[in-house]
Amino acid sequence: MVNEQRDWASLGIDITKPSIARTYDVVLRGKDNFEVDRAFVNEIVKVIPEIYDVATYNREILGRGVRYLAGEAGIRQFLDLGSGLPTVQNTHQVAQATDPSCRVVYVDNDPIVLAHGRALLAENDRTTVVTADLREPEAILADPDVRALIDFDQPVAIMLVGILHHLHDDEGPQRIVDTFMDVVPSGSHLFVTHFCASSPESRDAEKKYLAMLGTGRFRTPEEITAYFDGHDLLAPGVVPLPLWRPDEPVTGDLSVGQRLMYGGIARKP
Ligand code: SAM
Repeated sequence: MVNEQRDWASLGIDITKPSIARTYDVVLRGKDNFEVDRAFVNEIVKVIPEIYDVATYNREILGRGVRYLAGEAGIRQFLDLGSGLPTVQNTHQVAQATDPSCRVVYVDNDPIVLAHGRALLAENDRTTVVTADLREPEAILADPDVRALIDFDQPVAIMLVGILHHLHDDEGPQRIVDTFMDVVPSGSHLFVTHFCASSPESRDAEKKYLAMLGTGRFRTPEEITAYFDGHDLLAPGVVPLPLWRPDEPVTGDLSVGQRLMYGGIARKP
């Protein structure tokens, strides 16, 4: 675990409240988290005992999705919004393993991502980390560091993996998605994973997320699918994460945890 005695406040890091990036780090069994983050996850475990597995399903689809985008879809530029702390199989590692010329911009608003992430995430001149808020998409699109790596005349993968559920309805998540998709050319892709209202347990989890973390909207499959409106949704559509182009066939009924998040990828026509 991180040294809890450091002067985190001077870095803009509030260790008295759980943060989205750090609680996700807990469920990925990382080290960049504090007691308050672990206490939050312990509460979620009471309603979703599989929450650690859910984080793994999300990282696994991220890997499969980026492999598809860099491989079959031929994408060479990735805007990874709400990228989180570095962990295993980060977007640039997966994309650059397919083609080293792939360029990746990570964007996150949590200062811990910059504090801990910059060295690992910005590991070559085709990768960078920008601290910015997704709720201000125009500022991200105008950011010189974003513009330095992403050519908006060429196809871009807009990645909103595990983040749109942290936007409240009145923050206009659809407008934000559309703002990014409007500026990228035909052949660009949209990649979304999202908490899903898929079980009574997901309703209980939503209450805990909203009460303790302040965000965490579990939307219906129809609401999640609507983010892709106007684009060509790729097979198999918006599905529980383990069912999106699995490496091994998935058989039998899915558990609550396997259905807790849905995701998909679409191509801009
Ligand atoms: N995309 C990664 C993944 O799926 O493995 C990380 C997902 S993590 C659950 C969500 C990330 O979004 C956190 O690192 C959090 O700090 C970031 N985030 C939340 N709200 C944000 C906002 N308004 N602007 C930018 N980043 C945000």
